[in-house]
Amino acid sequence: MKQLKEKVTRWIQQKDGPQTQDLVLRPGKFGLGQIPARLEPDDTTTLICGYCSTGCGLKAHLRKGEAINLSADPDYPVNLGMACPKGWEALAPLRASDRATTPLLRDKASGRSESIDWERALILFCERLKELKRTYGPESVAFLSTGQIVTEEMAFLGALFKFGMGFLHCDSNTRQCMATSHVAYKQSFGFDAPPYTYADFEQSDVLIFVGSNPCISHPIMWQRVTQNPRNPTIIVIDPRKTETAMAATVHLPIQPKSDLMLLYGLAKILVEQGWINRPYIRSHTEGFDQFASFLETFSLSGIAATTGISAAQLRRIAKLIHQGQRVSFWWTMGVNQGHEATRTAQAIINLALMTGNIGRPGTGANSITGQCNAMGSRLFANVTSMLGGHDFASAKDRAKIARLLQIDESAIPTQHSWSYDRIIEGVKEGKIKALWVIATNSAHSWVNHDDLKRAFRKLDFLVVQDMFTTTETAELADLILPAAGWGEKDGTFINSERRIGLVKKVARAPGLALSDFKIFRLIAHYWGCGLQFSRWSSPEAVFELLKGASRGQPCDISGIESYAHLDRSGGIQWPYRPDESLDNNERRLFANGKFFTSNQRARFLFAKPVAPPEIPDAEFPLWLLSGRGTSSQWHTQSRTAKSDVLRKLYPEHPYVELNPADAKELGIDSSDQITVSTRRGSLSALAFVASTVGRGSIFLPMHYPEVNRLTAPVFDPHSGQPSYKACAARIERA
Ligand code: SF4
Repeated sequence: MKQLKEKVTRWIQQKDGPQTQDLVLRPGKFGLGQIPARLEPDDTTTLICGYCSTGCGLKAHLRKGEAINLSADPDYPVNLGMACPKGWEALAPLRASDRATTPLLRDKASGRSESIDWERALILFCERLKELKRTYGPESVAFLSTGQIVTEEMAFLGALFKFGMGFLHCDSNTRQCMATSHVAYKQSFGFDAPPYTYADFEQSDVLIFVGSNPCISHPIMWQRVTQNPRNPTIIVIDPRKTETAMAATVHLPIQPKSDLMLLYGLAKILVEQGWINRPYIRSHTEGFDQFASFLETFSLSGIAATTGISAAQLRRIAKLIHQGQRVSFWWTMGVNQGHEATRTAQAIINLALMTGNIGRPGTGANSITGQCNAMGSRLFANVTSMLGGHDFASAKDRAKIARLLQIDESAIPTQHSWSYDRIIEGVKEGKIKALWVIATNSAHSWVNHDDLKRAFRKLDFLVVQDMFTTTETAELADLILPAAGWGEKDGTFINSERRIGLVKKVARAPGLALSDFKIFRLIAHYWGCGLQFSRWSSPEAVFELLKGASRGQPCDISGIESYAHLDRSGGIQWPYRPDESLDNNERRLFANGKFFTSNQRARFLFAKPVAPPEIPDAEFPLWLLSGRGTSSQWHTQSRTAKSDVLRKLYPEHPYVELNPADAKELGIDSSDQITVSTRRGSLSALAFVASTVGRGSIFLPMHYPEVNRLTAPVFDPHSGQPSYKACAARIERA
């Protein structure tokens, strides 16, 4: 340990080691530090927004070294000069008063936290984890990470944890939003490959949104829809009359969690009517005949009874699909967060395949991603898949990555790590003793989170690495490692249409906060595996390694020259191989009808629909739906709540939407305080009587801390994604 101390002291004094400049930063007011060397004091630069997966380009305007304002970049091909409220206000959280500015160590007995220096924090971190590893084995420590940090940081974290520190179990909050799409694509197409480009929003003549509300969840994507010159037919399948449903040509208000049945109903009609593309099916797919036989087991009357959508209405929608020359299918969390989510996503993929609506402009089975870098996490986090979408179970893949990283192959685990839900179970069972949570707020966002909080309190050691000290998870931490946020570091994000965009440091992190990248680099040194990561010296150096990891994969990005290439190109969609050019900076997949499976055919995958494990009954007679509230709120609001502007754009307190007929029966008026209960807990909310929800359903926006006290611990069996969207509830006047 003495040697380590000397080493760090030397780094600081000589300024030749990792992170030296940030180690000598003094705590102080935001923005008083030096600006990055490459920017002039009153310059403007561009960077990608750090909230959602749309990946809008923003301009950062600097004065005297401080990013003082942001505006939408008119030249960026994603947003064409538009941004939603979150993007305009993205600097506000950097200036928040609850920023973590120094490592904080909590005394378990008194509950009080004290500031400690980085050296002590890192030594403590490594000593505690090593001790647990020695005593309980490498499966006793886990991490939970995020889709909000840059790809290079995710890759570093996953490689450090598994190849350097020798642990196994880790997952990311992308399990909560995109695991279903990941698995569905992988099984159907042979690789996790959303096939579209945003131009498809403008080139479809029929757009079908399933469990997706882009009007507020992805507002800039919706703007692209409104720019469609083909006067498109817009169909929304959603139990709630969302903002998008209100703007649609047709809204199908299905019964909660009957989407799989409805999609099979549409497929059945298309087959029966012969409204399918037989040449495409014959040439590019497999499993169609079995799927068609499976569809025969359903009756339209049964489907109508389950879904609440009449057979006539189903026929009308099938006909619209048939008549469309360019039909695109879009889904988001309404599909991904369900008890049979993977098969539901694949039912959408089946519709696109059987009608030949894929690989052409304005078509596709298109999952819209959630977080700004969930796509980066899916491909490069080294969590579920190995770097570059490789497989931990494949000896060939392990050898490739070991060669690339110049590490011993034996350092790469051969088994998959536990998924998020299994890690939480592991904590409850006492098998996981220490948890490292990076830039996510599990104690707010996880289903049934009172249960999770009880589990976290049992941990021997909970480390939270975050921008803020006040998130629900940070408040439970034994050790807080202060991290820089978006705008305070460099790296890349991958957006929903597979576009890799550049994020830049336009502001100094406050106090002693360091970028996650630098924290990982320091941990590597303190752990004693710094040499193994000597080439992981900067985000751009890691980007070079990731290019190598992607070579030969469907997500090959080895043709991207540098960060500067990304910058001047307006981002680049994968794949981008060395011999490719960017004549048109829009690229969709599968134009040649060749998929990434071993026989290059897409697969029809399906299963008999089953009822959700928890449905309304006499005690809890209502469906509780949850989802995004407004375009000004983001997830657990650890950032959006920091903006005075955004706070004015959404209700401060939780509210619950309920149908006028139900409200009348229960004697409830709008603005009444009511109690919403499920089998797991209850909350108090203001009633909002509106026909946005059908009879027998209520809706809660997910952003308030109390909401996931109520949601059910139900998971899709293939993706492990939690089913946030439907459980049984009751309401009473408070
Ligand atoms: Fe940022 Fe998403 Fe809003 Fe674009 S739509 S400005 S990426 S939050």
